[in-house]
Amino acid sequence: MTIQNNSTHTTLSWQDVLRTLPSVDALLRHDILRPLIEREGLQVVTDAVRQALDTVRGQIRSGHLEAVPTDWAQHIDELLHAVSRPSLRSVINATGVIIHTNLGRAPLSEAARRAIADLGNGYTNLEYDLDEGRRGSRYDHARTLLRQLTGAEDALVVNNNAAAVYFALAALCQGQAVVISRGQLVEIGGGFRIPDVLRQSGARLVEVGTTNRTHPRDFADAIDDDTAALMRVHASNFKQMGFVTQPALAELVEIAAQHPRRPLVIDDLGSGTFLDTAAYGLSPEPTVQESVAAGTDLVTFSGDKLLGGPQAGIIVGKREPIAILRKHPMARALRVDKMTLAALDATLRSYVRGRAVEEIPVWRMISAPLHELSQRAEGWRQQLANVGLSTSVQKGESTVGGGSLPGETLPTWLLALDLPRPDEAAACLRRASTPVIVRIQQDRLILDPRTVDPAEDATLLNILLTLKDDTW
Ligand SMILES: *Cc1c(COP(=O)(O)O)cnc(C)c1O
Repeated sequence: MTIQNNSTHTTLSWQDVLRTLPSVDALLRHDILRPLIEREGLQVVTDAVRQALDTVRGQIRSGHLEAVPTDWAQHIDELLHAVSRPSLRSVINATGVIIHTNLGRAPLSEAARRAIADLGNGYTNLEYDLDEGRRGSRYDHARTLLRQLTGAEDALVVNNNAAAVYFALAALCQGQAVVISRGQLVEIGGGFRIPDVLRQSGARLVEVGTTNRTHPRDFADAIDDDTAALMRVHASNFKQMGFVTQPALAELVEIAAQHPRRPLVIDDLGSGTFLDTAAYGLSPEPTVQESVAAGTDLVTFSGDKLLGGPQAGIIVGKREPIAILRKHPMARALRVDKMTLAALDATLRSYVRGRAVEEIPVWRMISAPLHELSQRAEGWRQQLANVGLSTSVQKGESTVGGGSLPGETLPTWLLALDLPRPDEAAACLRRASTPVIVRIQQDRLILDPRTVDPAEDATLLNILLTLKDDTW
């Protein structure tokens, strides 16, 4: 590097040192910055130069720097790296929480990723009927597959499940009563509380039963001519045990059918699954097909929880209420993008082909064999032990997360890293080129291979190996 101050700084005051700082223009004109300007543009580099000069000026004033640095290009390159890095980045989830809302919920299948890449590249028939050569509907795309998979008469996709619940209530129950069990007035997280959503939608909440027990007759007694719907909400993130009961969905459907007002039955399934969770050592979750088969008018669920697809709110059910939703002006405010529809279509096709467990990451993780997890944790341990890191493999538990299967765990094998300052080591892993998110338990870093794609193993190990260079 050639920009230098020739002064002998030992005898200089900080004011003198400041005076030897190069100007913004001088730095920008220098050869060393030319490649950076070509790569990032003059404006970005100028901002970085100013910022670098400001930082150095501050350091000189506070006595932290006695001479003007000479490695400007490197310093500015680092600053540029930080600003040009996208804010939203890939991370490695070693927490063992499969559907981690903070980490973007379900990772997409290869087919879904390919569909996004292919369709994002150009124009699509999003709202164009190719047979007729005229305007079509974006809602037609996932409709056929969803009907086929769930047995429902019709289907509609909106932005997320919170939107689906709100939309159904606002469009079909505004100004009327909605009956819900006191045991299901839940808060999902992020301030999404069923009683608040109901109020916001303009519907009137009628609470029935008690916290732990609600009977079919509680619903039957509450219906009057003002009742628009009976609603069931999946208690996604807590579990009631002991002296508890809730009416079955089929009982709500029968009660609604018997009343001349014929209120709708709405089921907010939350996660919603097409596959039987009991087949994978978890407690049984109600499937979407079961809800539909019970005669429910509207079933709502997320696209990115157990379904394992993109963020979306899926509404399936009877023809008439869904036709009202489709034509409602609010539908446009909640509509999904072509990328979402592309990924959803590809994800649903894995289910149609009967290949969901093999192809959809969430289900691959749920069904990962224990011996495979043990082998991977052991493989990690050996490589880290080779460089002198203190590690062990121990039994542990993964969770499904994302407001599905509360309290349920899957047995797993964990890698435990013993380091003197685990919090700082974890922070170092978060700052890696590909950030790694781990758990800390009993002062040890804990990594669960279940949520790490085997294709990420090499990257993960390279990052973990950097821990050996410091005394974390
Ligand atoms: C998760 C969940 C929601 C919200 O779904 P999003 O897809 O996060 O909008 C609503 N209701 C229940 C019961 C849930 O579990």
